[in-house]
Amino acid sequence: MYEIITRHENETKALGKLLAEKLDKGDVITLDGDLGAGKTTFTKGLAEGLGVKRTVNSPTFTIIKEYEGESFPFYHMDVYRLENSDEDIGFDEYFNSDGVTVVEWATFIEEFLPDQLLKINISKEDESSRLFEISPMTSRLEKACEEIMNDYVSNRYFQPADDNRNSKI
Ligand code: ADP
Ligand code: MG
Repeated sequence: MYEIITRHENETKALGKLLAEKLDKGDVITLDGDLGAGKTTFTKGLAEGLGVKRTVNSPTFTIIKEYEGESFPFYHMDVYRLENSDEDIGFDEYFNSDGVTVVEWATFIEEFLPDQLLKINISKEDESSRLFEISPMTSRLEKACEEIMNDYVSNRYFQPADDNRNSKI
């Protein structure tokens, strides 16, 4: 698992954008964390990195929104409304597609998720700091995380951390 702390919403967007550069068609990224953790903020950065031109907003009421990225489609799910439901709204079609899918509140549809995921849990450390716990489930995604950590440490995108919390554990 990789740990990264962002200290501003722009850093969270930058992290999403950075990840987007490493993604491939068919990748599924799950996001868990409380309301206001930064799932949608992260997704906006990721979508920007994929070349999505339209504004990305939370699809809480529609569950799924589809966007056109530069190289492949981008699917943004917010499955919050499916808590306590075992309804399959055709998830496989998205997970087995040639687009990239981000799922907010993924834990609510655990039984429908594929094995090969990039799992991200976001927690609020304080008003402006967020802890990202990132678990890659394939070797390619693991390599992507290594590269992101290197970018982080070389401080190309983020403000220097005043502690040693950013780490692979
Ligand atoms: P979620 O989708 O998890 O409910 P949002 O991304 O919609 O969360 O909201 C996150 C909120 O937290 C926004 O109001 C954003 O401005 C604020 N925020 C403060 N610091 C950060 C940070 N480091 N990363 C992301 N969001 C942050
Ligand atoms: Mg959200």
